[in-house]
Amino acid sequence: LMATIGELERHAQPTGHVPIERLGTIRFHEVTYQYEYDPQRSDALNGVSLVIEPNTTVGLVGPSGAGKSTLAELLLSLRQPTSGRITIGDIDLVDIQRSDWARLTALVPQDQQLTPTSIADNIDFLRGLDRADIVGAAHRAHVDRDIVAIADGYDHIVGSRSQGLSGGQRQRVAIARSLAGHPQLLGLDEPTSALDATTERFFRRTLDDLRGKMTIVVIAHRPTTIEACDRIIEIRDGT
Ligand code: ADP
Ligand code: MG
Repeated sequence: LMATIGELERHAQPTGHVPIERLGTIRFHEVTYQYEYDPQRSDALNGVSLVIEPNTTVGLVGPSGAGKSTLAELLLSLRQPTSGRITIGDIDLVDIQRSDWARLTALVPQDQQLTPTSIADNIDFLRGLDRADIVGAAHRAHVDRDIVAIADGYDHIVGSRSQGLSGGQRQRVAIARSLAGHPQLLGLDEPTSALDATTERFFRRTLDDLRGKMTIVVIAHRPTTIEACDRIIEIRDGT
């Protein structure tokens, strides 16, 4: 564990120094991204320019390998463009103080990773939230009823896949974790598989509830998700 922590600290993301309290208009200016270890040395994203207005829901669609996840990670500042710029209002994203940015944003990856601890701790995720905040977030992610139905409820220890929580419930716990911090920008990578009809319906309801209240960028595979978007951005071959 110490070795891993040391490794992560040696590769700490550079921080900017401009504080930010509210999310403004997001702009990509000719953004290109190339993975360092891509044997083909091709651009994952190539000259992408786009505008995302605050409090809109934007769907990202396109075939597998098109660059959707890469775009989402650049948007969340988990990666920095190889060339081009991303601005938030008038500020360059690389100049924004990382702690502020982390507070303003949340990403629910396609393969959500829960840790082997209680459901409450998974939602809290070391932020020291009180139980009311945790339950509130679970409500908003439409997973509260599922949690109280299992023995131990919020104190249930998350185990291997066969223990207690279905794939869809795990996804909703991951959404609750992201909502618990009240982000202004939410990135969602919609699960492609193992999504039962109930979870698909809940996922749509969550999107409908949040629409207009925060900026949402959702990587969308399903018609029900695409219908919930104000705008659709299609990516093909990184453009
Ligand atoms: P999508 O999410 O649309 O399926 P990605 O953004 O994951 O697409 O990938 C875009 C391109 O970048 C693909 O060609 C993929 O092979 C490549 N790529 C993705 N992640 C990495 C990585 N960690 N290293 C090298 N190449 C990658
Ligand atoms: Mg992807």
